[in-house]
Amino acid sequence: MKAQRDTAKILVTFVKNSVSSVVKKNPHLTIKALQTPKYHTTDLSKHSFLITGGAGFIGSNLVAYLLGNNAKKVRVLDNLATGFRKNLDAFQDNPSFEFLEGDIRDLETCKKAMDGIDYVSHQAALGSVPRSINNPLTSNEVNVTGFLNMLVAQKESESVKRLVYAASSSTYGDSKNLPKVEDTIGKPLSPYAVTKLVNELYADVFHKTYGTETVGLRYFNVFGPNQSPTGAYAAVIPLFMQALKDKKSPTINGDGEQTRDFTFVQNAVQANVRAFFAKEEAVNEVFNVAFGERISLNTLWENLKSISGIDITATYGPPRKGDVRDSLANIDKARKLLEYNPLFSVKQGLQLTWEQF
Ligand code: NAD
Repeated sequence: MKAQRDTAKILVTFVKNSVSSVVKKNPHLTIKALQTPKYHTTDLSKHSFLITGGAGFIGSNLVAYLLGNNAKKVRVLDNLATGFRKNLDAFQDNPSFEFLEGDIRDLETCKKAMDGIDYVSHQAALGSVPRSINNPLTSNEVNVTGFLNMLVAQKESESVKRLVYAASSSTYGDSKNLPKVEDTIGKPLSPYAVTKLVNELYADVFHKTYGTETVGLRYFNVFGPNQSPTGAYAAVIPLFMQALKDKKSPTINGDGEQTRDFTFVQNAVQANVRAFFAKEEAVNEVFNVAFGERISLNTLWENLKSISGIDITATYGPPRKGDVRDSLANIDKARKLLEYNPLFSVKQGLQLTWEQF
């Protein structure tokens, strides 16, 4: 344990020093600096990857890792619904990088995107609980029909070995158990949570029926560089950071005592990379991807104020529909079967994210 903590400390110091020295000149180098830890032992120059949703927050961080570690090919499929080309600008001249603008709701597009690909990380979806409450049909089309298209394309592909997909902690729904363990879930609390649960059901059925290899990653509140603070459905950490930058009071939904297992994006990147190459026992399983500690929104806000050195008082609004009260992951299963070992704590992640923000 102590050795792990020391390694993490060294990495963070290294990353922070690299970040501060170069970030002013070129913001993209921040992401490059974050590639320092290695999450793979396989030679990536022998493999081709498809990242759906690669122009988005988590996907673009994964693209950065793979290209930074000499992957043979990294193809992104994205319709730019909530992602941004600017997240991929740094890779535009890299001969191993390809961008395919297209929609996962179209089966032929999914098939084309998988042509010649070994490993798929399926990140494309419409995130956000409130978005799905306001427009359940579109969330269903993208998150369920789009997902099903990806599975059908995988089933018909001659090259794809494995598809890793973004599942969600929202699948725990109304379960009161803490920490959350993979095999005990509750009932979904939002249309978004239904779509993510359906993904897991389809992945399981496809594996049993057609033998397709899938690994599901239930992310717990991921945050980090490239997470957008704009739009009606922005996540809480970029919203708080934007408020600090603008010196405006943010609104905390409810009393702020709700807790979350906030997860720095590098930990999610690690889980994806490990899942690509994990042993057979990990196939057709779902894993919690988190740091394994929870903090309240009030504490998060206090931490951010102290990191930024800016003192603003938050305002409080009504609680949000469909939100769970508390969230904390047990990550033993991912540790065991994926050899996942999250290196960045919430505080370390917040510091790195604020520096880039
Ligand atoms: P994001 O919105 O930044 O990225 C999603 C990407 O998918 C975007 O680039 C978007 O343009 C693309 N996309 C959306 N609809 C598409 C379509 N029809 N066809 C092709 N591309 C499409 O979100 P993110 O936070 O990076 O989330 C990535 C994945 O992780 C999603 O599946 C999300 O549901 C899941 N997830 C995220 C979190 C989190 O805390 N960020 C937590 C749990 C699960």
